[in-house]
Amino acid sequence: MIDSDERPLTGGCQCGSVRYEIGAEPLNLYACHCKQCRKQSGSSFGMSLVVPSDSFKLTSGTPKSWQRLTDQGSEMTCWFCPGCGSRIYHQSSSWPDQLSVKGGTVDQPVEAGAAIHIWTSHGLPSTPIPVGATTFPFEPDD
Ligand SMILES: [Zn+2]
Ligand SMILES: [Zn+2]
Repeated sequence: MIDSDERPLTGGCQCGSVRYEIGAEPLNLYACHCKQCRKQSGSSFGMSLVVPSDSFKLTSGTPKSWQRLTDQGSEMTCWFCPGCGSRIYHQSSSWPDQLSVKGGTVDQPVEAGAAIHIWTSHGLPSTPIPVGATTFPFEPDD
């Protein structure tokens, strides 16, 4: 999932004031093409590297948050750098023991080809998806 042996995983925002460490191996990697993820990323999909909540530690800076309700009725808290606006991580009230770090903020290269693509039916036209990738037109059922 990560194309590097360097541990712990580290990362941060675009301006560098918010920094974090991840002290465990990631659990999953998603590329989500839903409208919310397109808005938050400003791109054709959002990348979520799912990690155990207790493995994520801020090492500098103080992110700000805002909250939104998901279609399933849970509360999603979205953390971002107040200086540069980079989205850093999301936490859902339905999954308190996990959080999703935005893939592009990780210093070590996230293996984009390993991502599970979800909400592909809501993606931008002609967004490339690797051949052989696991895809779901909507949210997977688990
Ligand atoms: Zn920043
Ligand atoms: Zn999404």
